[in-house]
Amino acid sequence: RIEMKDVHKRYGANEVIRGVNLKVEDNEVVVLIGPSGAGKSTVLRMMNGLETTTAGEILIDGVDIARPHVDIDKVRENIGMVFQHFNLFPNMSVQKNVTLAPVELGLMSQADADAAALRMLDTVGLADKAEAMPKTLSGGQKQRVAIARALAMQPDIMLFDEPTSALDPEMVGDVLEVMRKLAAQGMTMVIVTHEMGFAKEVADRVVFFEGGEINETGTPEQVFDHPQSPRLQSFLQKVL
Ligand code: ATP
Ligand code: MG
Repeated sequence: RIEMKDVHKRYGANEVIRGVNLKVEDNEVVVLIGPSGAGKSTVLRMMNGLETTTAGEILIDGVDIARPHVDIDKVRENIGMVFQHFNLFPNMSVQKNVTLAPVELGLMSQADADAAALRMLDTVGLADKAEAMPKTLSGGQKQRVAIARALAMQPDIMLFDEPTSALDPEMVGDVLEVMRKLAAQGMTMVIVTHEMGFAKEVADRVVFFEGGEINETGTPEQVFDHPQSPRLQSFLQKVL
């Protein structure tokens, strides 16, 4: 469970996050949408401490990670993150990419991690690619390995920042399919995406960011079919 309370962030004189209040319940899928520069990535990265906060609280299962001395590594073990650019280790096999973190962190033996990796690769539809090297994979396959790698830590929460925007169109469906599956399994997820059809289908709640603030939030039906704010209406006109 994630709870942001009156969160602010500034870069110098520029306040890019201006008082965000946002709750993500267990098993909930929340999709963040909004124009470029609205603060979606910043908010997502704050949720696992990749960005500091200027003010406010970010409670992850009740622990305020915005406080100075919190054990952020411990928090991160529980939060998987997948970015637009997948950054697999190029000199390691797919399976090694997936097992590296849990083994290095001493969370699993290599044998347990190997078994878990094969399960995760099966989940993302790449059971036959365990021995492959990243350079032999397509973009969509690499992104699915990145998802498997995040899942290998057995996180309670998964954060996705535009996981399909760097992919060729024909690869997008496979990655969305994996995310759909995770949602159906009850994974708590926060997803930044420009795939509005996907957002409408999997989101329990959609949050529209604009200028560092939450401008409107609601169910997919409310946000996409009955947008209230003029900002959201004009945004949807551009992207739908
Ligand atoms: P996009 O859809 O383009 O990814 P976004 O909604 O994810 O946009 P953010 O990346 O969160 O937007 O950026 C929010 C604001 O913060 C922008 O105005 C951006 O210029 C600013 N910003 C982000 N990172 C930094 C940084 N390291 N230093 C200064 N300003 C930054
Ligand atoms: Mg972004």
